[in-house]
Amino acid sequence: MSRLAQTHGLTDVQQEILSTVRDFVDKEIIPVATELEHRDEYPQAIVDGLKELGLFGLMIPEEYGGLGESLLTYALCVEEIARGWMSVSGIINTHFIVAYMLKQHGTQEQKDHFLPRMAAGDIRGAFSMSEPGLGSDVSAITSKAVKDGDEYVLNGQKMWLTNGGTSSLVAVLVRSDEGHPEGTAPHKSMTTFLVEKEPGFGEVRPGLTIPGKIDKMGYKGVDTTELIMDGLRIPADRVLGGVTGRGFYQMMDGVEVGRVNVAARGCGVAQRAFELGVQYAQQRHTFGKAIAQHQAIQFKLAEMATKVEAAHAMMVNAARKKDSGERNDLEAGMAKYLASEYCKEVVEDAFRIHGGYGFSKEYEIERLYREAPMLLIGEGTAEIQKMIIGRRLLEEYRFQG
Ligand SMILES: Cc1cc2nc3c(=O)[nH]c(=O)nc-3n(C[C@H](O)[C@H](O)[C@H](O)COP(=O)(O)OP(=O)(O)OC[C@H]3O[C@@H](n4cnc5c(N)ncnc54)[C@H](O)[C@@H]3O)c2cc1C
Repeated sequence: MSRLAQTHGLTDVQQEILSTVRDFVDKEIIPVATELEHRDEYPQAIVDGLKELGLFGLMIPEEYGGLGESLLTYALCVEEIARGWMSVSGIINTHFIVAYMLKQHGTQEQKDHFLPRMAAGDIRGAFSMSEPGLGSDVSAITSKAVKDGDEYVLNGQKMWLTNGGTSSLVAVLVRSDEGHPEGTAPHKSMTTFLVEKEPGFGEVRPGLTIPGKIDKMGYKGVDTTELIMDGLRIPADRVLGGVTGRGFYQMMDGVEVGRVNVAARGCGVAQRAFELGVQYAQQRHTFGKAIAQHQAIQFKLAEMATKVEAAHAMMVNAARKKDSGERNDLEAGMAKYLASEYCKEVVEDAFRIHGGYGFSKEYEIERLYREAPMLLIGEGTAEIQKMIIGRRLLEEYRFQG
């Protein structure tokens, strides 16, 4: 876009990908986003367009038919897409997390089986940790897998699956006591199962039901669902990585890269809010001049733009750290925390700049106002980010006295 949120040091390939995505967002997403969102309609045409652009395989290695791009490229694309409509970035994000977990932790057979079709967007992924009784406290998971011959039998209820209905592959985290003696730490007795299913609602596979969509205040268009397992039989070769007891770590690894992407979404939504605010402030007149000429409004714009810049810089830093092979949990936690809080504040300021019109569904800012809060919760709440940040800081700055 403009002066703000520039990223230095990108390769020609990265710049080309980004400019293609930006063009797609401006032409194919922004003009239809608000109308589709108000109707809570799945953006099929947009998803087909993203498939054609190869976005579903952006980070999947070339040997599996993907583009083999970095986390930074991916995050910058997500930022652009969220600038257009946050829900669309949600459609890609869970897919990306599942593909990443397969790439990092899958057996060779699992990679060969899933990744090429995921790269083409023919299989789309969702991931499921949360349950009705827990979200932050993943170690309290109650869904269970019990071994029965060459299969596992899964029972339990899951909650809040983004793309639960539209996906055909769900990475599900459950407790699997098999092989783990009594008293094993909860996070060492969890396993990720790769559950294939038909897209849609109702009984999508024997023993597996996806009830209808959860009715949400924002983040519409993308489906968020429950998932009910009642005697669901999964073959042992669909344990991610082939070994039980590693699910907690695999999921946390996935969520860590997911956090960079939630930060990127916050950056994108904040940028759009700034664009809307700065435009409106120059069109609306009060007391004989454009409201942008009142210092109070200029100060708001200054604060908004500063937040957009700061969040973008932290998000890029977290992505680059991961790409360099270093541990990035501290940076990802900070970026996610800051970008989501700033996003909410920038959106609120843009809303205030719109005066009463911000309350009207005719104005795009109304949609952003309902979308921003989701970023405060998804991939770990602000409190959870601060716990991660605090713990890591104490590791780094251990008192030596
Ligand atoms: C639209 C949407 C989509 C989602 N998509 C997915 C998905 O695809 N897959 C998935 O698995 N999950 C998904 N989630 C679930 C999401 O990850 C959880 O909602 C989130 O982790 C918070 O969990 P919770 O809602 O159970 O809140 P709780 O964990 O019950 O927390 C409630 C409040 O207590 C605070 N809190 C909790 N523990 C502590 C503590 N130790 N110290 C201080 N404060 C604390 C929290 O910060 C929060 O403010 C989605 C949620 C939403 C809303």
